[in-house]
Amino acid sequence: KNLLEVRRVSKYYGQEAAALSDVSFSVKEGEFVSIIGPSGAGKSTLLRCINRMVDASSGEVIYNDVNVTKINKPQLKNVRRTIGMIFQHYNLVNRLSVIENVLHGRLGYKSTIAGMLGLYTEEEKKQAVKILNLLGLQDQTYKRADQLSGGQKQRVGIARALVQNPKMLLCDEPIASLDPNASKVIMDYLKTISSTMGITVLVNLHQVDVALKYSDKIIGVNKGRVVYDGLPKDLSSGM
Ligand code: ADP
Ligand code: ADP
Repeated sequence: KNLLEVRRVSKYYGQEAAALSDVSFSVKEGEFVSIIGPSGAGKSTLLRCINRMVDASSGEVIYNDVNVTKINKPQLKNVRRTIGMIFQHYNLVNRLSVIENVLHGRLGYKSTIAGMLGLYTEEEKKQAVKILNLLGLQDQTYKRADQLSGGQKQRVGIARALVQNPKMLLCDEPIASLDPNASKVIMDYLKTISSTMGITVLVNLHQVDVALKYSDKIIGVNKGRVVYDGLPKDLSSGM
């Protein structure tokens, strides 16, 4: 069953050349999919069109049987609750502790009163601690976010996404700022999350070798167009 269908999506930012041109592909439930391509190819725009952080200029996104392109704000909010986002630069709040960063993700937006006042239930805290342990961050739980290494910060980013109990993770260049060792740790966690929790993972990468190693399927993007859509083994044999 397809969890996600991107249908003929194009995106123009102002007058410039299209960031995305007629992009179509689908993702099955539980699949681990890498989107690869050079810088400026449109990978980030593509992920952002899926949860409408960016509105597509044309085309449709069908996610979990919902036409995301057509829904109103409250409906979109419900959809976004089931989609975790992971960023290249982690997007943590530096002055908050690791666990506060994770709880903040659960509440969704830091503008919520509970978030600002730090009013979390015991149940929420327990769940956050559990997920931090799962990601090997038990010794970092109460540290300030800015005391962590890059790899640890990204694990907090993953924990923050997981605490909202997502069906799908959108990961925008999650290892682009990390060294090879930390990158491997992060990719291994993403793979484990996908295979043990059944969470669908879409990950933007610019390293082909990493995509080949981890993916069930690879989408190649260049200049806003899909130039490859298939299995890793078929891509590597064509290289
Ligand atoms: P990638 O993630 O593959 O590096 P992006 O989606 O970031 O690619 O960018 C695709 C194209 O869209 C690039 O030409 C980029 O300059 C342009 N672009 C991305 N975001 C914006 C924006 N907010 N405003 C204008 N142009 C943008
Ligand atoms: P900000 O006020 O800086 O946007 P947030 O903590 O609300 O801070 O969000 C951090 C980043 O995560 C931002 O880039 C925001 O757009 C993104 N973000 C927050 N919540 C969601 C969500 N539910 N779906 C997608 N992106 C989100």
